[in-house]
Amino acid sequence: MCAMLLPEPKKAVFGEGTTGRFVGLNLITAKIASPSFDAKEIAEMKLWNYQDLAVRVDEADSLHIDIKLSDALPAADGQIDLPELFEKQGFSLRVGSSGVEIAFAHRDGYVNALSTLKQLLVKHDEGGYTLQVADILDWPSIEKRSVSNTFAWYAGYGRIGFDMQLWGYDEWIEYLNICSDLKINQFNMCMYGYWPFQFDEYPETMLQGYKMKVWNEESRNWIEIAYTHPNISDEFLSRLFAYGHKLGIDFFAYIGLNSYNGGYPSIYKDKRMVLPKDGKFVNDFDTLCLSRPENIAYLKAAVRRVVQLGFDGIDFEESEESYWFCNCDACAETFMKNRTAAEAKHKANFWLLNTLYTEIKDENPDCVVGVRAWREPPLEKDLAYLEDCKRSIPEDVVLFWAPGLYVSDDEFPKWVDVFGKERIWARDTEANAVASTMGRLMRIFKTNVIRADEETNHQYIEKDIDMHIDSVKHGVKGINGYMFEWYGYFLNLYSHAYYGWGSTKDHETFYRYSVEAVFGAELANDILYVLRRMLTIHESQFNIFPTEFPFLRNKVKAEDIPVIQEAIKEWPELGARIRRIKEAIRGDERLKVYVKHFDKIENSHERNRVIYDLALASISYDLAVTPEDKRTFLREMDRLNELDFDLVKRMYFDVNPVDETGMPSCMYPYHELKRVIHNELDPDNRNDRQIFLGVEAFGWLWL
Ligand SMILES: [Zn+2]
Repeated sequence: MCAMLLPEPKKAVFGEGTTGRFVGLNLITAKIASPSFDAKEIAEMKLWNYQDLAVRVDEADSLHIDIKLSDALPAADGQIDLPELFEKQGFSLRVGSSGVEIAFAHRDGYVNALSTLKQLLVKHDEGGYTLQVADILDWPSIEKRSVSNTFAWYAGYGRIGFDMQLWGYDEWIEYLNICSDLKINQFNMCMYGYWPFQFDEYPETMLQGYKMKVWNEESRNWIEIAYTHPNISDEFLSRLFAYGHKLGIDFFAYIGLNSYNGGYPSIYKDKRMVLPKDGKFVNDFDTLCLSRPENIAYLKAAVRRVVQLGFDGIDFEESEESYWFCNCDACAETFMKNRTAAEAKHKANFWLLNTLYTEIKDENPDCVVGVRAWREPPLEKDLAYLEDCKRSIPEDVVLFWAPGLYVSDDEFPKWVDVFGKERIWARDTEANAVASTMGRLMRIFKTNVIRADEETNHQYIEKDIDMHIDSVKHGVKGINGYMFEWYGYFLNLYSHAYYGWGSTKDHETFYRYSVEAVFGAELANDILYVLRRMLTIHESQFNIFPTEFPFLRNKVKAEDIPVIQEAIKEWPELGARIRRIKEAIRGDERLKVYVKHFDKIENSHERNRVIYDLALASISYDLAVTPEDKRTFLREMDRLNELDFDLVKRMYFDVNPVDETGMPSCMYPYHELKRVIHNELDPDNRNDRQIFLGVEAFGWLWL
C-alpha cells in the first residue's frame, strides 16, 4: 500500500510492513550537533491534531517509537535536482520496522519531515498508532510557497468582514497548522480599509467601534452593534507571528500602494484623488491625492506602524485602473504633464514606493518589499516597457504579480528574463479571490458556472494550477495562492500547496488524489461529486438586475432552462451527499476541523434551490407579455429573493450594504434586486440609489 502524501515527495519507496504499535515519540538527539531550535517543542506543535501522541526526548521505552534525528543530510548524489533547496528545506525520512530516522540540514527540513511523518500514521485497533514503512527523500521545487489570506480585507470599507477576517488567535492557529502540514511557508495578510491593529497616531483609522446592523435570529430583527476587529479587542498578531516563525512561516502585510486605503480617505473625503468630470467613474479605489503633504505623512506613518508590528515583508498592491489620474492642479503639474493617465499613475506610485521603501528599510532593513504592479491593459507588455518598470523600483523589490491569464505563453518568460527568477514571488493565481466575491456561493470549477465559456473571466482552480506548474517549470522564487475565503475552499489550498511544492499529477488526477488523501476514498467520491456538480447562479444574473458584475456577465435566458431543470432534479442527491459528509466528519477526530466548510457548502446548496426558482421566475418575467403577468412574476421573484436572503442572514455576519466610501455596495445582490423589483412594483415610491456589488467590482465598471 502506498500512503497518499500531500504534497507528494520527490522520491518515495513504500515497504509492506509497519512499525510496532506506539503511543508516543521518543526523539533521539545525539546526532544534532548544535540545535538552533527546540526539536521537542516543534514536534509537539506539529502534532496539534494528535494530542494523544506524547513527545519525549532521549527516553527510550517500548511504547515510544524512536525517532533518530540527524542534522546531516545524506549526500546529494545526483538524484537531487535542486541541491540548494534540498539543503534549505529538504529532508530524508526513513521508517523501518523498529524505528524512524530523520535527517535535515535546517529547521525547515525538520518541520517538513514531520509534516510528512504525520501522514504515515495509521491508527491501531488497540489504541496508539503504527507508521507505514517508507524511505522518503524530499525537497521543494519552489522556495516561497505563500498563500494570501484576508486579515481585514475591505473591512470597514466596502464591507465589515467575513470568513477568516472574523477569526481570533485560535482559529488562525488552526488554519496555520493545516497550512504548515501542507508545507506552505508564507502568509500574506491582506489589510484593506480600516487598520486591524492598534495605531495610536491615527486612532480614527482603526477598525474599532464600527456601527453596523447584525441580524438577530432570536428576535428576528436587526440590532445595531459596534464592531471591533478581533486583533484590536484582544491583540494576537504578535503571538501568531511567534508561533508561525517557529514553524518557518513568514508573514507579509498585503496592503494597497495608495489604493484601497479605506479608513483614512473615507473619513477625509477631501483628501482623496480628484476624479475627472466626465462622470463615468463611480469610485477612485480610495486613493489619496499625492500632492498633499499630510497624506504623505499619513502613508509613511501607516507603513512604519505595519513594519513595527513585526511583519517579515510588505507586499504593495497598485490598483489596476489606468484611465484617469488625480485631476487636482498640483498633480496635473507634477505627475500628469505630457503623460497618459497610466504613465502618470505609475510615476506617482513609484515615487511613493521609493519614499515608503526608505521608511520601511529605516525601520527594519531586513523587511522585504514586494509589489503587485503593471497589471493594467494592455496585459502584454513590450520589453522596453518592462525594462523601464525595472528601473523605476529599488533593485531588491520583489514582484508579487506576474502575468499568467489572458496572455500568450511567451509573456511570463519575458518577465522572468527582465526581472530575474529570484524576484518573481507570485503570479495571477486569484481563482479563490474571485470566488470570494460571489456572495458566499460556491465557485471552484468551471462546471459550477452557467455557460462558463462565454464569460470574460476565466479564473477557476484549473487556471491557478496551470500557472503553478509553469512557475515550477521556470524555477522562480515563489508562488502565491489566493485564499481570500477558506470555508468551502479547501481544494484551492491543496492546489497551491501541491503544485507549489512541485508535485506533478494532472488536474483531474490531483482533485481526486488530494481529496482522498485528506478525507479518504469514500468521502472523496461524495465531496467531489458535490463540488463539481453544484450549479451556481449568482443573483445578479437576471435581466432585471442593472449593476454590472464583471466576474459573471451572462444573464439567464430561455435556453438555460434545461440546465436549470437538470440542476433542480439533481439537487436532492447533492443535499443527501452533503449531509452524509457532514455526519462522517463531525465524529472524526482529524476531520472535524472541516465541519464549518460543509456548513457553508450546505447553506450555499440550500440557497441554490431557491435561486433556481428565482432564475426561472426571472426568465418568465422577461418573456411575459401582459402587465398582469409581469407583476405576477415580479412578486414571485420578490418572495424568492427574501427566502434566499433569509438563508444568508441566518448564517453570515456582514450582509448589509456599506456606503462608507460614498457609494453603497454589498456583495449580496439581494439588496439591489429588491430595490429594482420594488421600483417596478411601486413606481410612485422609486428608490434610485444603486447598490453596487462590492468595492472590488468598481474598478472594472468602465471597461
Ligand atoms: Zn492631486
